Amino acid sequence: MSYRHTDRTADTADLIAPPETGFRLEPSNDIDYRDKFRGAMVGTGIGDALGRPAEGMHPLSIRDQWGYLEDYVPWDGWTSGPKGTLTDDTELALCIAQSVVETGEFDPKDLAERFHAWYPVGRGIGSATWAACDRLERGATWFHSGSASAGNGAAMRAAPLGLAAPFDMDELRRISAWSAVITHADPTAVASTVVMAYTVAHLVHTVPGSLDLDELLTGVDRSLEGLADPELPSRRRPGSTTLRQRIHDVFEMRDQPLEDVFAVTHNGAFVLESLPAAIAAFIVNTESAEGVITEAVNGGFDADTVGAMAGALAGAYHGYSAFPDRWTGDLEFVSGLVGLGDELAYRAELGPSLELSSDPVLDEYAPVTIEGERWITQAHVEAAEHAPEIRHEIRLQPHPQGATRLATADRRW
Ligand SMILES: [Mg+2]
Repeated sequence: MSYRHTDRTADTADLIAPPETGFRLEPSNDIDYRDKFRGAMVGTGIGDALGRPAEGMHPLSIRDQWGYLEDYVPWDGWTSGPKGTLTDDTELALCIAQSVVETGEFDPKDLAERFHAWYPVGRGIGSATWAACDRLERGATWFHSGSASAGNGAAMRAAPLGLAAPFDMDELRRISAWSAVITHADPTAVASTVVMAYTVAHLVHTVPGSLDLDELLTGVDRSLEGLADPELPSRRRPGSTTLRQRIHDVFEMRDQPLEDVFAVTHNGAFVLESLPAAIAAFIVNTESAEGVITEAVNGGFDADTVGAMAGALAGAYHGYSAFPDRWTGDLEFVSGLVGLGDELAYRAELGPSLELSSDPVLDEYAPVTIEGERWITQAHVEAAEHAPEIRHEIRLQPHPQGATRLATADRRW
């Protein structure tokens, strides 16, 4: 692989203690935070699900096959399932959100255990994450499990981190670093996770229609203050760049067509490509949540991951209510994504009190593996019945707490 990537471990001591900055964001009275928290969670899933069949494809091949990809399509590849099926990007974001909601804090040890539990059935798992989970399997601690990789596997799942620490940017930087190193023990992977989480936090605090891109860029710079951001070689062009420089590049190209921006950044699995690409998809389409995601996905290459990150940004800014019904209605685990958004908003004292006596989140998304058998939510069973040719291929995400409920409800797939 030609970007900085290895499945070997690296020392995390310098990565997990970002310097304090005193940087804070403040809440606004003019914002429907619950809609925006839902939007960041559900947007991750929409971009992931829409981009899933196009992963690894050249944009011209996407055009040949689907014209312009605007609707979910079922696909019988390695992440098979009916339209609206999610992949690792959202599954791992769900792990983070569930961990924060269920433990009441950000606990990297608990999160590492969730990644480890997910690993046998994860859909589209990346090589650094695979190697990290293998180390966890063999008893490594969370700060010794990560691979020395600048892949996008840590940034792609970072939206819930911005919702878990929406005010105190020192806390956001710390939990982003801790979350990243579990799988990606690399300074650029950490910095990109911070930027992704920060951008989500910035956008949830921004009234739709009032975004100032210069303020956003200033905030991104502040979020990177004092963090290692080494210069790395570009894959598609001669020369080297840093994450900060690449993000500045895409802000400077804000008035250009996205394909011209992608020609500079590329939109592959190297996080110096895919995170700036996702930010670019957002800033050239700030008026349209739908446009952000379709443009991100139709650029191909790491389409599901660029789509997931761009979708999180679109949702954090415009809110869940801005997404069309055809996307929210057919999205796998949408109730769980909405429920976790609600719970994170409540936890941040930005959303109304929830009646949690019967834990609505776990009722709604709990695809699990129990003793080798796969279990799935009823809503997804019904969706899959429309695609009988691929139903036997469906792969599921484990959720131990949900297993009992599903077993009791006799929803075996
Ligand atoms: Mg994926």
